[in-house]
Amino acid sequence: MATRIKLLLFINLFYFLGIASDQHSNIDQAQIHGAMEFLASDALQGRASGSHDELLAATYLASQLREIGIEPAGDEGGYIQNVSGEFNFFREGKKQWNTRNVIGKLEGRDEKMKDQVILLTAHMDHMGIGKPVNGDNIYNGADDDASGCVAVLQLARELAHEKTPKRTVLFVFFGSEETGGQGNQYFLQHPPVPIKNIVANLEFEMIGRADSAVKPDELWLTGFDRSNLGPELAKHGAKLVADPHPQQNFFQRSDNYALAKQGVVAHTVSSFGLHTDYHRPSDDVAHIDFNHMEQAIHSMLDPVKWLANSEFKPDWEAGKKP
Ligand SMILES: [Zn+2]
Repeated sequence: MATRIKLLLFINLFYFLGIASDQHSNIDQAQIHGAMEFLASDALQGRASGSHDELLAATYLASQLREIGIEPAGDEGGYIQNVSGEFNFFREGKKQWNTRNVIGKLEGRDEKMKDQVILLTAHMDHMGIGKPVNGDNIYNGADDDASGCVAVLQLARELAHEKTPKRTVLFVFFGSEETGGQGNQYFLQHPPVPIKNIVANLEFEMIGRADSAVKPDELWLTGFDRSNLGPELAKHGAKLVADPHPQQNFFQRSDNYALAKQGVVAHTVSSFGLHTDYHRPSDDVAHIDFNHMEQAIHSMLDPVKWLANSEFKPDWEAGKKP
C-alpha cells in the first residue's frame, strides 16, 4: 500500500514537472513572440538610428530589464546611456549625433570572480522609414536585429531567474549600429566597467531564420577560428560552428568588432542565410521562423550559463587578434 501511494506520488510528481516545464516553454515562446511583435511592429517605424523610434525601443528594453530583475547600469541610476557627441560615420565621416544604449547588469555572486564580466549585446536600431518596396516603406528589422535583442532579453531572464552567476553579466543594447556603431563607440569611451574586465562579448545578430548553409539547428560564430571561445562554447553544448560566409566579412560588420579591436574576445552569433529580405521592408515578423528562433535561443542558454560561472578566460589564437 505505502509503496503504491509513493509510486502514485512519484508518477504525479513527474506529471506535474512535465506540465511545469511545458508551461515554462509556452511562456518562453510567448515572451519571444510578444517582444518581437512589439520591436518589429509598424508602430516603431523601423527604429531608425538615433530617432525617437529608437528611443521607444530603448525604453521598452529598459522596462523589460527592470521587470526581469536586472540592475540598471546606464546614466543616473537608469538603464539608458545617453550618447551624444561627434562620431565616425560610414559615409559622411565625422558628425554630431545623438543616440542611446541600454545597459543592465547582473552582478556576479562570487567575490573573486565578479570583476570578470561577460558582455551580451545586440543592436536595437534599424533603418526606419525608407524607399517603398511593393508598397511598404517601413523597414521593420525583425531579423536585423529585433531577433538579437530578444535573444539577449531571454538570456537575461534565464540568468536572473536562476542562481546568480559567479561572474558579472552585462546586457547591452546598442543604438545606431546601422549608421556605423555610434552607440558602441560611446560605450567604449564610457564603459560601465573597465574594458579590461570584459572577459568575452557575444553579439547576437539575425537569428530569426535558419541558414541553409549550416544544419537547421546550428548557429554560426563570426571569426570562429580567431579565438578559443567558439570551440569552448561548442564543447559546452552550443550548436556553434564557423561562419559559412567568410567572404562577407561578418566578423567586421557588427558591434563586436570595435570591442575586438580593443582586445576583448568578441564575436557575433548569427544564422543569417543571406536572405533577400535583408535591409528591406520585408524583414518583418511574418518572415520570422519562430521555431528556429526559439530553438536558437534555447541552445545558447546552458553554454552562456556555463561561461558566466566558469573560470575559463577565452583568448585569441596566435596572430588572429584583429
Ligand atoms: Zn544588424
